[in-house]
Amino acid sequence: MRILLLGNPGAGKGTQSSRMQKNFNITAITSGNLLRQNIAKGTTVGKIAAKHMEHGEFVPDDIMIELIGDELQRNKRQNWLLDGFPRTINQAMALDDNLNLSGQSLNLVINLQVPEEVILQRIMDRWIHVPSGRVYNLSYNPPKIHGIDDVTGEKLTKRDDDNPEIFKIRLQKHHALTEPLLEYYNKRNILITCNGRTSDEIYPQIESELIARFKVISPNNQVKTSTEKNLLKVATRENL
Ligand code: ADP
Repeated sequence: MRILLLGNPGAGKGTQSSRMQKNFNITAITSGNLLRQNIAKGTTVGKIAAKHMEHGEFVPDDIMIELIGDELQRNKRQNWLLDGFPRTINQAMALDDNLNLSGQSLNLVINLQVPEEVILQRIMDRWIHVPSGRVYNLSYNPPKIHGIDDVTGEKLTKRDDDNPEIFKIRLQKHHALTEPLLEYYNKRNILITCNGRTSDEIYPQIESELIARFKVISPNNQVKTSTEKNLLKVATRENL
């Protein structure tokens, strides 16, 4: 599985990505987390990135391409997903060139569609644990202790760019830039769109697609629909 997750800021890419990692053997490469980790460590990339991110602007393509290229090279897993990169056609073409060298091109692009009013409420409620990239939401996925990461006991923080003014800039930029990306991947027949108001509505759509397309089985085996059951039978037979 060589997957790209697309969706508005706040559409739940992080949530879907953690579920996919938990249920399938997938490594996630998340551009926003990599950037925030670089900022926290005070690296050169982090210093440049911070200047752009504070204003809701994209980090320049050349920096992003190198950052993700290095990360893909470090990754040893067969199954991976990209979250947050590519965001521009330039980045998409650079990624294609990079992946084509090893004959490992993207084989699925998942576009998450969530209504904007839902997204706006979500980002107001969002808290994160920077070192791990874990995301909490005060309404439907709160930490056990307010302001504290469940796993490490460290402090949670609010992202600087999760405020309404900066968020609106991010949303406008996102629309202008992702439309061409959607077209780019649609032409290659690897694009699917999943709609819903909650991550619980969207996740089963993703899981069915992975089972059908890659003939894999979700380890938790929470198969709900009869279509999924039939697909699971086929997948099991083919794996034998
Ligand atoms: P969101 O999806 O909510 O925008 P991310 O964590 O993915 O949040 O990204 C936060 C910020 O990091 C973006 O607003 C942007 O400034 C920068 N960034 C992340 N990925 C990229 C990318 N592929 N190209 C340019 N800038 C990026």
